[in-house]
Amino acid sequence: MIQVAVVSGKGGTGKTILTASLASLLPQDKVLIDADVDAANLALLLDPVDCSADEFRGMDGAFIDPGSCVGCGICAQACNFEAIQKNQDLYGVVPYRCEGCGTCVLVCPEDAVQMQPRVTGRIHYAQSHAGPLLYGSLMPGSGNSGLLVHRLRQEARVKHPDVSLVLIDGPPGIGCPLISTITGIQVAILVTEPSKSAKSDLMRLITLCRSFQVRMYLVINRYDVNEDIAKEICQIAAEKDIHLLGMIPYDLDVLKATRNGIPVSTISGHASEAIHQIAKNLSGEIDQI
Ligand code: SF4
Ligand code: SF4
Repeated sequence: MIQVAVVSGKGGTGKTILTASLASLLPQDKVLIDADVDAANLALLLDPVDCSADEFRGMDGAFIDPGSCVGCGICAQACNFEAIQKNQDLYGVVPYRCEGCGTCVLVCPEDAVQMQPRVTGRIHYAQSHAGPLLYGSLMPGSGNSGLLVHRLRQEARVKHPDVSLVLIDGPPGIGCPLISTITGIQVAILVTEPSKSAKSDLMRLITLCRSFQVRMYLVINRYDVNEDIAKEICQIAAEKDIHLLGMIPYDLDVLKATRNGIPVSTISGHASEAIHQIAKNLSGEIDQI
């Protein structure tokens, strides 16, 4: 089983658009994971059916037993996150503010506070034309996005142990969810665009992926928006021995496909042609691993 993640150092580079097309084009039998749990939208482009969901329990949160609480307010004063608030005469925890630090449990003189598991999101299971799709959704204000990504990958392995490819739409940035995404994978497709900020974020992403010993490939989206920076990025990739899978031109038809909720690979146009070639190149690389 080869695990491939499509990642980017910043949001808005076209990562999900590319992932949806790769899902449609790569011939390997596969399971798909949307690991962008803060804003999962791969499903919007793959239009899956047979959807179901399980609760995801992240970190414990504080709960005040109203029968034991005497209303002294010590816990509210001790909470650094203003998560305990008084409503009329009762103190209660505002769940989305609670960071689960446990301070209130320690300071309560009446033992009225307990830490309890709480539902902070969902794990969704669906079937798309390109294969089974798992994606996560976090409740507003909930943390543990890295843990949710870990759970998604675990579920994919357990439910689909025989697939030859796991294709992951990774989260933007280089934080905890990305680390959960790239841990143990074989291939990262770095999607960037020709801008100074994207170039800077790409450098950080390369450093991180290298430290996880992940084989990297590069895709430059909308490369013709600034061909000078695109050339600089190609130069950086060559120096770092990162293979360029392809470059996608700016193409208004991409916006049309996205607006209609379909993968770009299913329409005609310059961007679609480039993506078809990228999928061919990637498939060839995967076959050699
Ligand atoms: S410290 Fe304990 S008793 Fe005092 S308000 Fe908080 S929960 Fe109630
Ligand atoms: S666990 Fe920490 S963050 Fe949550 S309510 Fe208690 S003191 Fe505040």
